Amino acid sequence: MNDSVDLFVIGGGSGGVRAARIAASHGASVAAAEEFRFGGTCVIRGCVPKKLLVLASRLADEFARAPSHGWTIGTPSFDWTTLREAKEREITRLEGLYKKNLGGAGVQIHEERAEITGPNTVLLKTSGKTIHAERILVATGGYPFKPDFPGADLSIDSNDVFDLPELPDSMVIEGGGYIAVEFACLLQRLGVQITIVYRRDQILRGFDQDMRDHVTEAVREAGIEIRTHCSITKIEGTPKDQTVHYDKGSSQKVGQVMMATGRKPNIAGLGLETAGVNLNDRGAIQVTRDSQTSAPSVWAVGDVTDRVALTPIAIREGHAFADTVFGNNPWFCDHELVPTAVFTTPELGTVGLAEHEARERYKHIQVYRSTFRPMTNVLCDKPE
Ligand code: NDP
Repeated sequence: MNDSVDLFVIGGGSGGVRAARIAASHGASVAAAEEFRFGGTCVIRGCVPKKLLVLASRLADEFARAPSHGWTIGTPSFDWTTLREAKEREITRLEGLYKKNLGGAGVQIHEERAEITGPNTVLLKTSGKTIHAERILVATGGYPFKPDFPGADLSIDSNDVFDLPELPDSMVIEGGGYIAVEFACLLQRLGVQITIVYRRDQILRGFDQDMRDHVTEAVREAGIEIRTHCSITKIEGTPKDQTVHYDKGSSQKVGQVMMATGRKPNIAGLGLETAGVNLNDRGAIQVTRDSQTSAPSVWAVGDVTDRVALTPIAIREGHAFADTVFGNNPWFCDHELVPTAVFTTPELGTVGLAEHEARERYKHIQVYRSTFRPMTNVLCDKPE
């Protein structure tokens, strides 16, 4: 193990791993630390396992469609434990690949928490070892945020949902963004009766209005209840038998509550202040276009900088940092025109301006709109 490296990366998610690998490929000596599991949010408790659950959930639609296409099938039944264990096997495989690729690139791996103790020093918390680093990259991602109200600790978040020992019969999900709506769609299809609770008038705020209307209709069509202009004020009961109280005075019995009320940059206890790293007004690490922080030896990429909190962006930022600083090839990640997808059923995909944004920016715009029904839905007379 080297006590001194050219680059120390804190956080083994999408951005950190890409930066470490590319910097090493440019000849830098690199170490990387991860306190949970290499792969980060996307691989371990985000995009990848979520997508596996989405695919599993859509089989419910296939079974329902099958008879109108001539198939006779028995009564399908679903076993959460089987799916959860299959998901676990897959993310363990991917985690192994991440570590293998890092090791293969010559990156020194530390499976423990690391904290900054000075502009060029990092302390490994379990082994107690201090490493000197010419440069430090912070790529610690984000964590799910829960509002504070009585009984909030009885609710789960998107980290917990993947490993529930069993699925509840019913769930209230608070929030109207990516996570709330994706999990509502997939869990409803896996047999959980879902209620979405959202504080404003319509889910998926910020997306194009036609898309919001279309997905809202499909969400309702799937049997999900959406309560708008509504917030949870209190949860009472036991983890499996809860009563949720709402701000308008009503309440509801439910098996489980999940909060999907956004994510915050993961900066607590990292020692950023000891290196002179400034935060912005959203509590994220303040960076330049090139991901440089206010400290000359420290850079930051990915969700911890709260620019565009999407995996491909963290990867691009990490890659640009490594090429620029270690590869003598300066470039930066452009945050305009970032495509994004929401894995509802049906999913939503978008790039560029929404119609309302285009209208604000330009005087004359033309809108082309088209709708279609997949042929399979025609046969089974489904409106989607
Ligand atoms: P989002 O920011 O997308 O949505 C958060 C939701 O919670 C909003 O509807 C917001 O309401 C609501 N909210 C925030 N604070 C409160 C509060 N105090 N009380 C009640 N409601 C509140 O966050 P998510 O947690 O859904 O996802 C986090 C990020 O992860 C996303 O922004 C995205 O970048 C990424 N992600 C990407 C995915 C993908 O690419 N498919 C999938 C999942 C996550 P309001 O609208 O009023 O602000």
